Amino acid sequence: MRAFITGANRGLGLELTRQYLERGDQVFAASRHPAEATELQQLHQQYADRLVLLPLDVTNDASIAAAVQAVSAVTDALDVLINNAGVYPHAGSSDAHQRLGQLTHNDAIEAMQVNAVGPLLVSQALLPLLRAGHKGRILSISSGQGSLTWKATGDPYHYSASKAALNMYMRSLAAEIGNQGLISVLVDPGWMRTGMGGDAATQDPADSARGIIRLAEQLHAEENGSFVTWQGQPVPW
Ligand code: NDP
Repeated sequence: MRAFITGANRGLGLELTRQYLERGDQVFAASRHPAEATELQQLHQQYADRLVLLPLDVTNDASIAAAVQAVSAVTDALDVLINNAGVYPHAGSSDAHQRLGQLTHNDAIEAMQVNAVGPLLVSQALLPLLRAGHKGRILSISSGQGSLTWKATGDPYHYSASKAALNMYMRSLAAEIGNQGLISVLVDPGWMRTGMGGDAATQDPADSARGIIRLAEQLHAEENGSFVTWQGQPVPW
């Protein structure tokens, strides 16, 4: 199994990377600054033969193209892409900037670029490698905050809207690639104790990673375009 993971240097992305490596898989771990990614560097010492560290800023076209080139220099196929990188503008800030009265264009654009447009363009760029893989799968990490059905609060405006946009982008992609032997799904990973989720979160990211890897293994063509939890339960749009 050859997996490509964005935002692999911390949180859920790091756990996914660690667990794929422990299973014996090959991982292309993309992060903005691999040279500063201490945990990834440590994993690389242990799994140098199967872990490839790549620089990738998902908001930068040239960076995406360079990452694809770097993967192509090592393999001609990928089996799984996990669009994990994400941002919650002003996460952890005591001053909540995603409330009415505090909203700015910059925060909106940042959320849209990282959470919605980035995953779409990374997927677009890696499609040829995924088509050449075994049952090429794209799992994009969304959020229950992106569910229109579940939406009951204003805050966080930008994060919710960007995840809803991600859902639509990936639903569009799924409609187009479903007949090419590819599968694309959206996954709500639960409320995890990470930099983004904070210490009060209910879930260990290791459990989410385990569930997402299992989900990736068990995906069928008829699930293409679906939105599910890390345990495979349907999430309302
Ligand atoms: P973290 O904040 O711990 O990690 C976010 C990751 O995204 C980091 O690796 C970060 O890199 C990377 N990233 C941010 N911007 C960019 C960019 N422009 N290009 C490339 N990488 C970038 O978040 P989590 O691990 O908690 O979140 C993982 C995913 O799960 C996200 O998509 C998030 O929205 C989603 N999610 C999380 C929940 C939670 O409770 N934690 C709940 C629901 C969904 P860097 O270190 O360089 O900043």
